[in-house]
Amino acid sequence: MKSIISTIAVSIFFLSTPLVAEQSKKSTDTNTEDQQSVVPITGVKAEAVQKVDDMQKLTQEIVDSLFSFSELGFQEYETQKYLTVLLEKNGFTVEKGVSGMPSSWWATWQSKIPGGPVIALGSDVDGIPKASQKPGVAWREPLVEGAPGHGEGHNSGQAVNIIAALAVKEIMERENLPGTLVLWPGIAEELVAAKAYFARDGRFDDVDAVLFTHVSNNLQTSWGNPQGTGLVSVEYNFEGIAAHGAGDPWKGRSALDAVELMNVAWNFRREHLRPLQRSHYVIVDGGDQPNVVPAKATVWYFVREITAAHIRENFATLHRIAEGAAMMTDTKMSRRIIGAAWPRHFNKPIAERMNANIEAIGLPQWDEKDQAYAVALQTLMGAEKKEGLATQLKGLQAPPEKPISGGSDDIGDVSWVVPTVTLRFPSNVKGLQGHHWSSAMTMATPIAHKGATAGAKVMAATILDLMMEPKLLEDANTYFKDEQLKEITYEPFISAEDKPAIEKNTEIMAQFKPALEKFYYDAKKYPTYLDQLGVKYPELEKPTGME
Ligand SMILES: [Zn+2]
Repeated sequence: MKSIISTIAVSIFFLSTPLVAEQSKKSTDTNTEDQQSVVPITGVKAEAVQKVDDMQKLTQEIVDSLFSFSELGFQEYETQKYLTVLLEKNGFTVEKGVSGMPSSWWATWQSKIPGGPVIALGSDVDGIPKASQKPGVAWREPLVEGAPGHGEGHNSGQAVNIIAALAVKEIMERENLPGTLVLWPGIAEELVAAKAYFARDGRFDDVDAVLFTHVSNNLQTSWGNPQGTGLVSVEYNFEGIAAHGAGDPWKGRSALDAVELMNVAWNFRREHLRPLQRSHYVIVDGGDQPNVVPAKATVWYFVREITAAHIRENFATLHRIAEGAAMMTDTKMSRRIIGAAWPRHFNKPIAERMNANIEAIGLPQWDEKDQAYAVALQTLMGAEKKEGLATQLKGLQAPPEKPISGGSDDIGDVSWVVPTVTLRFPSNVKGLQGHHWSSAMTMATPIAHKGATAGAKVMAATILDLMMEPKLLEDANTYFKDEQLKEITYEPFISAEDKPAIEKNTEIMAQFKPALEKFYYDAKKYPTYLDQLGVKYPELEKPTGME
């Protein structure tokens, strides 16, 4: 980062109406010292927040368009086309196909004044297999039976980042602020298969801070190592000898036998692993037909643990088991790393500043329709509490005292090469099932749009803080070097030779794309995607006669 010209502060003017949301009271379980005093957002930050409000139509169009594309990891081509056209139209320079991933891109805008901070904004874009779902209705109804859909809500984060960037860019241009904005996608996050490659290839070398966004059911950020795990995602391939299953099976060596023995061994071993581990597998290739001894078979594992050291240990155990399975069956074994995620660590000074902006901006104003829909979905899914949408902020999340297991995100690798935080924004409903069609139901409704707008406001305010206050970036860097990296050295799980698994999901998308195309959102013809689908939001009662 180059130092910021000191005269900038002079040109900042202050608006008379500070933005403090009515709903931004913190719940009681967070630190109490600043509970009564929410710092209002003023000046250019208030202006940026207003600009985000003015762009609500574009926010809705981005969220709805990505929802309608329903693309899986490494196949995000419609998403890429739509977003890169939008970014180029708005003055960003776009590079496509970075880090050997054809569906990826890297968009950069640099202010005319040289130097200044480089702030990179990221968010995932891929969907979930078999999660196709009509939005705005309170019952199961796929748009296309068996097709992928946004059952994780990854259609919303790019809108948060792009709208925030557009608001900030306009102000930076007018105020002659030096600095660079980078917009990048989390490709194939559901395969945990891209961000470690971006980090490995030096994509963040010149970046001062990364602000990442992810859909949630509240507006929140955290610092340190949050709940969840890191992982290695790895395929084991076995090669045997084909033979007639009845004629001369003794001549065959079954690769499927090796896969089954490997799985049995791992399932026995589970008892002797730390309870915090999570591991799961699918058999990607189990042979072709029963009367042909399978000459080839592949099993795909996710090995998750809380610390990088424990992930490495379990991965080594899994590898030995694979070697044992090959030995037992006289087959050949090879492995291929599909993806990896280091356990996350988020930057404290940036998270604290982002949280101050969250408190000033507050949660969206949900209306009765939004709340009725949220409760209907919680009822449908048997959620523990049918409490509707969040109306209270949860406050800044500190690291849990004892580690809590759970999912992973390859933003972990990014967080070990550059100061990083994740903003969670409220475009979805608490109590629904993750990686499931129920988590797609709100994702093209006013709930998703309002949640993304709230997120974009926080992002815009935080980007401006980072652009205008050299001390904040200095503090972020000090924390990163002196606290985060003090005891742990980042050693990626992927090597220089590993390549992204870009062939993944090719066949599924080829199968469903023709049917999904009929459902692509046409923003020129319809105000919203719900209008295009003829949904009178919210539709709570399943029509009679429908199966
Ligand atoms: Zn996700």
